[in-house]
Amino acid sequence: MSTRDSLHLTDEQLDDYADGVMSAGALASAEAHLAVCERCRRAVSDTREVLAWATHERATVTAPAELWPLVTSSTIHLAEVRRAVLRSMRGLLLAGALTIAAATAVVTWKLARWTSPERAAPARVTPRAERPGAGGPGRHAGHPVVPTPPAAPRAPEAPRR
Ligand SMILES: [Zn+2]
Repeated sequence: MSTRDSLHLTDEQLDDYADGVMSAGALASAEAHLAVCERCRRAVSDTREVLAWATHERATVTAPAELWPLVTSSTIHLAEVRRAVLRSMRGLLLAGALTIAAATAVVTWKLARWTSPERAAPARVTPRAERPGAGGPGRHAGHPVVPTPPAAPRAPEAPRR
């Protein structure tokens, strides 16, 4: 078979096979390939050795207490452990979230004050010049006259009962 080399199992397939989590169809084709491919058989064997070593290490090595949530959340039972870690850290996270929310609000408020044209308007020197008919003469000499587009007509409001 000349195309055999291009049909080797992928790393993901090797992991799934070694973990025993392949679907029936994928398992059948993986086993068919492993029956004729020494290279993939060796890869599966290597993967199983690593898995066995990792399981052994996990059972014999105790992480320092302060690192344990990090270690467990990065290994097995990911979602469950993450939830547990989040639960145990909820107070801390809540305090952090509130701090971030407050800081964001302050920054947003300051940016809005600096950039909002509505807020900048009262600082103009001659608001009188904005009235129709009052042209350039009243405007401060240092400020260029910027033509403002006419305001869109507003829909009449329904009379209140
Ligand atoms: Zn192969």
